Amino acid sequence: MTAPSDRDTPAEAARDPRVSEVLRREVPGLEEGVPLASLTAYGVGGPAEFLVRAGTTGMLIHAVLTARELGLPVTVLGRCTNVLVGDAGVPGLTVLARNEGTTLHGDLLRAEAGVELPGLVADLAEQGLAGLAFAGNIPGSVGGAVVGNAGAYGESVSDCLVDVHLLEEGKEHVVEPDRLDFGYRTSLLKSRPDIVVLSAAFRLHRGRPDELRRRIAEDAALRRSKHPLEYASCGSYFKNPSRETPAARLIEEAGLKGLRVGRAHVSEKHANFLVAEEGATADDITTLAAEVVRRVKESSGYELHEEVRRLGFD
Ligand SMILES: Cc1cc2nc3c(=O)[nH]c(=O)nc-3n(C[C@H](O)[C@H](O)[C@H](O)COP(=O)(O)OP(=O)(O)OC[C@H]3O[C@@H](n4cnc5c(N)ncnc54)[C@H](O)[C@@H]3O)c2cc1C
Repeated sequence: MTAPSDRDTPAEAARDPRVSEVLRREVPGLEEGVPLASLTAYGVGGPAEFLVRAGTTGMLIHAVLTARELGLPVTVLGRCTNVLVGDAGVPGLTVLARNEGTTLHGDLLRAEAGVELPGLVADLAEQGLAGLAFAGNIPGSVGGAVVGNAGAYGESVSDCLVDVHLLEEGKEHVVEPDRLDFGYRTSLLKSRPDIVVLSAAFRLHRGRPDELRRRIAEDAALRRSKHPLEYASCGSYFKNPSRETPAARLIEEAGLKGLRVGRAHVSEKHANFLVAEEGATADDITTLAAEVVRRVKESSGYELHEEVRRLGFD
């Protein structure tokens, strides 16, 4: 494959019709101008310039490498539950990981990046396999959960992670968790969006299906009672400064529950949910977030940091 040569930046390359031609030829199932609002939990934002739903790990690798060779920006996403897409959309190729294979050897589970996490945890519960039950109601994919070290109730995915299969600088590697600097809702992968998670292996242990099922159901009920699930959101918007200092408390103490910008507001039910109503724009949300950060800093001295990844913002 030869990349068009008379271009300077990825944005220019994306506008070059020859790039689209090569991409269409090389990437089966390529879609163009796909509204991301309908694919993301937040329900806001503009279109993906190009998009592909990669149903196998091979397709995922091929799509990423092809777009990179053409000089296009590449964004790999899972189930889009922790991203905020800008109103102008996302340039280049957006790849949705839809590789959904799993293998189980004894208590060692390997799950491909596109596997939907709550469905996986429910299946494991039926088989009497524990270790990921805390994640039974964390929406999203295995890949997204590894990148953000998703967690709840003091547990996170890195706790039972054995290794991660990555695509890095055009090559596949299997790395141990030590290399990925896991911390509270973070990992090295958060600052390296060029690295693609292909699959991850988890060490599980035996549990009773009825207990696991009950734990997942109780967690779901707790979430329904505490979270404004009737609105679109990305879950908790800001990271907690520490376990003793939850962001929700700081926002509530600053008197910001109900604060509104356009069609976005700070939830009355849970202050760390910045929810989007029908017709909200990404701009409403980011303006609201900036105001929350400013007022919390003013009232408590704490600097809040976003958990969500922004896409398509300069
Ligand atoms: C109602 C609600 C409740 C939530 N509750 C929780 C909770 O309790 N705990 C918690 O931790 N989170 C929670 N979240 C946030 C979200 O569910 C997690 O962050 C989840 O792990 C994101 O997975 P995803 O597949 O949707 O990732 P996406 O939103 O698709 O992507 C998130 C980031 O990961 C990257 N990424 C995704 N897949 C790959 C891949 N294969 N390779 C490389 N990079 C990749 C993306 O580029 C992006 O930077 C909640 C969200 C919602 C909407």
